[in-house]
Amino acid sequence: MDGQIAQRAQHHEFLKTGRNLILEPMKIICIGRNYAAHIEELKNEKPGQPVVFLKPDTALVKGESPFYYPDFSTNIHHEIELVLKISKEGKYIQPQFAHRYFEEIGLGIDFTARDLQDQCKAKGLPWEIAKAFNGSAPIGDFKSVSEFSDLKNIDFHLEINGEVKQKGNTSLMLFDFATIISYVSQFFTLKKGDLIYTGTPAGVGPVQTGDQLIGFIGNEKMLHVEVK
Ligand code: MG
Repeated sequence: MDGQIAQRAQHHEFLKTGRNLILEPMKIICIGRNYAAHIEELKNEKPGQPVVFLKPDTALVKGESPFYYPDFSTNIHHEIELVLKISKEGKYIQPQFAHRYFEEIGLGIDFTARDLQDQCKAKGLPWEIAKAFNGSAPIGDFKSVSEFSDLKNIDFHLEINGEVKQKGNTSLMLFDFATIISYVSQFFTLKKGDLIYTGTPAGVGPVQTGDQLIGFIGNEKMLHVEVK
């Protein structure tokens, strides 16, 4: 019976929005301010430790589904990010063992309602409504870690309507994958299927209805999101 209800809810959601619901419980952990040039463009301070926030599973949009521009914002920004998929449970993971906890790396977008975030920041309030809203975490394809020759030298970029808007390389991260996993696993037990968005490089900016966002790791297309 529960299965039936879940199936109906999934179908209802699909009819309503065209999105897929993820029914497996999982969490999305996001790292902010992890690339110096991006910190400068938003005039933030360089953090001494990773800046961490969460998105719920309802933020996740898989595959080629569109992003629906929400009514509550007039300044939605794109943030292209490499995403780690956690492959086994762990907590208090030491940096030297962090590589054992993810087997795949993908590409996602941390959509941000910059106008709401600025209001929250001005009041010293949490960012959740600006960061964790429905559909705010599109996720594309994943590649096996074994396909990368050097995790500290991964190029990725975002094109909007054919124009390169953001370019990043993991060598420019303030906190590398191992440090992130070690740090966040002190607070949150990592479970298989959890996702970690590892921060965005410089070049964030607003999206408009009709935009075609295409994300690449190296030269390989990993993500396509249309803004509706
Ligand atoms: Mg981000």
